[in-house]
Amino acid sequence: MIDLDEHKLLAGRLLATRSHPYLAGALWAMTIVPTYQVPTMAVDRYWRCYVSPSFVAACSVGELAGAWLHEVGHLLRDHHARADRLWDRSVSGHGSQDPGVVHARQMAGGSWLDAEQPDLERLRMNLAMDCELNDDAQVGDDIALPQGSVRPRTFMLDDGQIFETYLRELPATMVEGHKVWLDCGSGARGGDAPWDLGPGEARPLSSAQAEVIRIRTAEQIKRGQGDTAGHWRRWADEVGRPTLDWSRLLRGAVRVAMGAGAGSGDHTFARPSRRSAALGGTVALPALTKAAPRVAVVIDTSGSVSDSELGAALAETAAVIRAAGGQRVTVYSCDSAVQTVQEVASARDIVLAGGGGTDLEAGMQRALAARPAPDVLVVLTDGHTRWPKTPPRIPVVVGVFGPAPVLDQHGRWRPRRPPEWATAVRIE
Ligand SMILES: [Zn+2]
Repeated sequence: MIDLDEHKLLAGRLLATRSHPYLAGALWAMTIVPTYQVPTMAVDRYWRCYVSPSFVAACSVGELAGAWLHEVGHLLRDHHARADRLWDRSVSGHGSQDPGVVHARQMAGGSWLDAEQPDLERLRMNLAMDCELNDDAQVGDDIALPQGSVRPRTFMLDDGQIFETYLRELPATMVEGHKVWLDCGSGARGGDAPWDLGPGEARPLSSAQAEVIRIRTAEQIKRGQGDTAGHWRRWADEVGRPTLDWSRLLRGAVRVAMGAGAGSGDHTFARPSRRSAALGGTVALPALTKAAPRVAVVIDTSGSVSDSELGAALAETAAVIRAAGGQRVTVYSCDSAVQTVQEVASARDIVLAGGGGTDLEAGMQRALAARPAPDVLVVLTDGHTRWPKTPPRIPVVVGVFGPAPVLDQHGRWRPRRPPEWATAVRIE
């Protein structure tokens, strides 16, 4: 056994940073964990990079740079969360409620995963992910992908696809013969890896922190710093893409609350105009402004909310902020009590705190009592909370994330649906 040549490994990371300056923040957010348990290099969901000292010894600095770019790609592209989603859908089984139809192979988001062979299928996902990352990796003159790396053309597939698409094209037999380079760790293909440190050790990054790094990196790429490789630009265009159209939702909620109905859409967000005040307030003139609404967002940070759900909540909040059209948005993180209150103009400024029980009512009351009052309240939650008994005076949009509600033995939905007075939408 040899010691890790840390100098060489860091030289590789530096070279990767020089050629891809927009990835600097992400590259240096990774914590190095030397271990002989990994064949080459692997990541976990907490942004730790496990690296074999013998792999470092065998690679050139340029190949190490290529490996760094590859591993950070898995993390930025949130491969582990995408893999777990695909897997959950496959084992919980679309259509398995139909008693006569229990397939070993079930449809999982259009990709076939064999629920009875989890290890093999994780590796097959890893292979598909590597195709997504390596397809047009123009790594540069002095940077190379390490020996044995796969590309789509290795399997006679086209470049430019996402891993979920490659997965459909890759037969399980392809996994054989690629096993050495194949385990990029639980931070890539999801699940667990034998070398994984728990969430408590060695500077774990939460998924909310990871989401901030993704958003920042994407912003930097969009601002066009440096020579951006095409595939990174395509990725940046997708990042933080929320699942909901918040500008439509906020407009709609305010319109309904004002009883404006159809046909008067331009009067959204109207308060009584100045002139009506000048007229003694007796004449209610519609304010023909399109001024942006004041939005308050209450984020459920209770212990029942997973890190990836918090990440999803942050992505939606970023979209709410954009939809708020330049108005600062007040964000409350709330478990059983309000933990943080922040006025933000950008999602990256948000600090979330929580982890206790759930009582979003506290956060909602606090938001509703704020002065100036918000025009619309957004609540992002997994739904396991109490709700105010009386309808608030402003429109409320509830974004519900987490597992879909199920019927309990009493025929009630768990979690309960948000109250009637709220516009409830599912965040997938
Ligand atoms: Zn990989």
